[in-house]
Amino acid sequence: MMHRLLLCTDMDRTIIPNGRQPEHPDGKERFHQLCGLPQVTLVYVTGRHLQLVNQAIADYDLPNPDYAITDVGTKIYRRDQSQWSEMLTWQTQIAADWRGKTHGQLLKALEGIPELALQEKSKQNDFKLSYYLPLNVDQDNILKCVEQQLDQLDVDASLIWSIDEQEQVGLLDVLPRNATKLHGIEFLQQQLGYGLQEIIFAGDSGNDLPVLISSIRSILVANAETEIKQQSLELAKQNGCEDSLYLARQESSPLGGNYSAGVVQGAEFFTPEIGALLKV
Ligand SMILES: [Mg+2]
Repeated sequence: MMHRLLLCTDMDRTIIPNGRQPEHPDGKERFHQLCGLPQVTLVYVTGRHLQLVNQAIADYDLPNPDYAITDVGTKIYRRDQSQWSEMLTWQTQIAADWRGKTHGQLLKALEGIPELALQEKSKQNDFKLSYYLPLNVDQDNILKCVEQQLDQLDVDASLIWSIDEQEQVGLLDVLPRNATKLHGIEFLQQQLGYGLQEIIFAGDSGNDLPVLISSIRSILVANAETEIKQQSLELAKQNGCEDSLYLARQESSPLGGNYSAGVVQGAEFFTPEIGALLKV
């Protein structure tokens, strides 16, 4: 029996080789092969906004996806005959968490926290406030302050903390509680009628963590930082989800486990019947 697969993957440092580790020269071609199978529906799940998704597809010669969950989960688009259309029911759904408060009102509530530096305008949207945060400050305490301010506004938020290793800066996203990458994938899963056994996710860093430690079968690429490997293993165990987490390894495949080769390695592990379709 031929299975279908909703292949959801992060972009930067997961299929885009823009980290410190090298990419195998054949890794991306194998990933293209995987995504080209008629059984596979491809979803990009990323912190980028749509324009930067398009740019990465062009710059890095990536396969065109069928869907894109962008802005760390706050927007979802369908791609049809090279046209993108936003799935607006998603925005309506996540809006409820902010109880009618606007981006501007949240901004104002957080402006008294001096360590937070607002990211560029293109990285903000109605349901996403994004800040830079130095790595040498007491992050836990700052996150606590953010939480307190948002509580006072009666806003139900998810705080997503990531580190940009390249730039050596912290990234903080304030999102509606139900607008993380995980919730975006679950929404798409429901809309498209996929079962849990028909989905795979791949990622590399902090904002992927909610999916990596969930019951969704997930791949952590080999180039991920040691800290995130330990953290995701630990939390997946706590959640009883260690069987649905796969850590790609350099030595486990001729193409290695970094970036897209790691995604292919994990897809072969979880769905050998689909792996068998890839020419060796
Ligand atoms: Mg990433």
